Amino acid sequence: MKTCIYPGTFDPFTTGHLDVLKRGCAIFDKVIVGLLKNSSKTPMFSLQERENFIRKAAQAEGITNFDVISFDGLLVEFAERQGASALLRGLRAVTDFEYELQMAAMNKKLKPELETMFLMTSTQYSFLSSSIVKEIGAYGGCIKGLVPEVNRLEIAERLVRQ
Ligand code: ADP
Repeated sequence: MKTCIYPGTFDPFTTGHLDVLKRGCAIFDKVIVGLLKNSSKTPMFSLQERENFIRKAAQAEGITNFDVISFDGLLVEFAERQGASALLRGLRAVTDFEYELQMAAMNKKLKPELETMFLMTSTQYSFLSSSIVKEIGAYGGCIKGLVPEVNRLEIAERLVRQ
């Protein structure tokens, strides 16, 4: 049974994130979305909201071999507790690369047997980030296609109200 952890803040979960999750679930027996509790990014959406968005979106896609578990502390230790053999990350532009390389190198140093695997973004999502969604949504712009359709209204309402 090959399990991987797909860690992130997911504030909020975008269609780009969903694309990586779906593709990860086709490769691994199980993908655990590791929801970061104490992110330095000070998330706008609560842990519960973020978890609900991920669960609803994955269920709407018919994905069954996933779970969502929040964590804080060291990612490699969380991965070990979950029995995961790999970390899954998405790569968009060159700008992601430097940070991801640093993280992967550090995690490798902490736990050499835990591999970090990268999935290249699908081209239509290469411009997409949670920050862009929050920016557009805050000004009442249309976020259709940027977040999973099942979550769109809830996210849009929340963003214009903030
Ligand atoms: P973090 O706070 O750890 O950067 P994010 O929630 O921003 O977490 O992203 C989680 C993962 O998903 C990261 O590996 C990020 O590169 C990847 N990701 C984010 N947006 C996209 C996208 N549009 N396409 C592919 N991967 C993405």
